[in-house]
Parts: sequence; structure tokens; C-alpha cells
Amino acid sequence: MIEVNNLGKSFGELTVFSDINLHIDSGEILVLVGPSGSGKSTLLRCLNGLEVPDAGSIRIGDASWDASMSEAAKKAAVRRVRTLTGMVFQSFNLFPHMTVLENVTMAPMMVKNMNKAEAVEIGESLLTKVGLLNKKDEYPSRLSGGQQQRVAIARALAMQPQIMLFDEPTSALDPELTGEVLAVMKKLAREGMTMIIVTHEMKFAREVANRVIFMSEGKIQEESSPERFFDQPQTERARKFLRQLA
Ligand code: ATP
Ligand code: MG
Repeated sequence: MIEVNNLGKSFGELTVFSDINLHIDSGEILVLVGPSGSGKSTLLRCLNGLEVPDAGSIRIGDASWDASMSEAAKKAAVRRVRTLTGMVFQSFNLFPHMTVLENVTMAPMMVKNMNKAEAVEIGESLLTKVGLLNKKDEYPSRLSGGQQQRVAIARALAMQPQIMLFDEPTSALDPELTGEVLAVMKKLAREGMTMIIVTHEMKFAREVANRVIFMSEGKIQEESSPERFFDQPQTERARKFLRQLA
């Protein structure tokens, strides 16, 4: 369902990664870990078209992007990829002047031309799923960080993406608010959502991941089951990384 081949990305002189290959099946949950600066966010941003890779190809569902395409074809591919991927960031980035429900219904109405009644119906069911239907008419500033992040998840789901990308979704939250966001993500996992998750929550990673990828120095250094990665990391780099977290 997702195929990444020979993906490369540089910023000027800095090569973030040069040859990333990934295959993710529908329903799989991939946890991506690695030291700060190893390119985790850049990889996720390339997957949903927020950054333009310099080399390689990405296929998500029926959308393909290839570095050798014409500029016009790339633009069309990025538009398609964006509608297939939902992304949740460390900072919640809700629209402050819109209510919770308006935040969730805006993109389906604007991007997918969904009519308001349908968008509201889907939006309310997603707010129910994240446990926030009772806050639908509030403005984001009146919600806790954990509640705002759950709205951000509902907003991403409203586009009915084929894959959800999470970039450290709980890093900006106080510890007591982290659990409610992880609980929503676990629910999505149980429902079979395909997800790539960058997180420092190792207990959570071990619980939900089907596969762990460890990135460092622009390369995938290890790719294994969570049990094997956490109990028997194969490289010294990964052992050092895990020691530092402990
Ligand atoms: P962290 O764990 O701290 O979030 P990360 O693994 O997500 O790190 P990235 O944010 O992907 O790392 O950054 C990878 C490298 O690319 C870093 O050296 C970073 O400084 C650089 N970088 C990221 N975005 C840009 C940009 N827009 N312009 C220039 N350099 C960038
Ligand atoms: Mg990052």
C-alpha cells in the first residue's frame, strides 16, 4: 500500500538521507525512532508532500510520485498524496478562530467539496470517536493540550486518509495528558488504520508497533519486530540510543 524507493532528501549541503526504501502493508503500524536530527520528520514530510524529495519514488495507494516526473505531474501527484495521508504534528495547529467542529469539517468541505450536512455528520462521529463531541462548539484555546491533539487527530481522519502519519504527537503534552492521546491512537490501531508513528513513548511503541525502524545518519539501520528491537538491538547505535532513553 505504501512503497518508497531510493528516496533522497538534502537541504543544500546537508544530505538528510539518500537511499530510503520502505514497504508498508495496509493495516500495518510502523514506529520510526532515531536520534534527533536523523531525518524522521523530514521522511514523514516527504511522504505527505510537505517536503519535495530530490530522488526516488513514493507510491501511496493509487498515487505515485517520482523524482523524474515533470513538474506538472509532480504537483498533481502531491495533491493526490495529500488527500490520502493524514498528518498529526507535535504542535496541534488547530485553526484558533474556528470551533472544534469547524476545524474538523473544513477540509472535507473545501478540498473534497463535501456538503455541510455530510461533513458535520462525519465530523460529529469522529469527535465521538476521540471522546470530544461535547466540546464541538468550543474554540481550541478553551481546550487542554490533550484535547486539542485529539481534535487534530479527528481533523486528519475527516479526510478519510488511507494512512495516518504521526510526528511526536505527545511530545508537547504534560505527562498526564499523554495517555488520552495514546489511547485514541491505540483505538485507531485496533480498527486497522495504517500508521507511521514517530514517538519517544517506547512502552507505547512496543505495544502497538508491528515493526520498528531505527534511523540514524540518514539510513535505516535496523528494521525489526518491537520485541527484537527493544530486547536485542542489533547495532551499537541502536543500543546507545535505547540506553539514552532509559
Ligand atoms: P528530532 O528528533 O529532533 O525531531 P528528526 O529526526 O525529526 O529530529 P529532522 O527534523 O528530519 O530530524 O531533521 C533532519 C536534518 O535536516 C537536521 O539536521 C535538520 O537540521 C535538517 N533540516 C530539517 N528541515 C530543514 C529545513 N527546512 N532546512 C534546512 N535543514 C533542515
Ligand atoms: Mg522530528
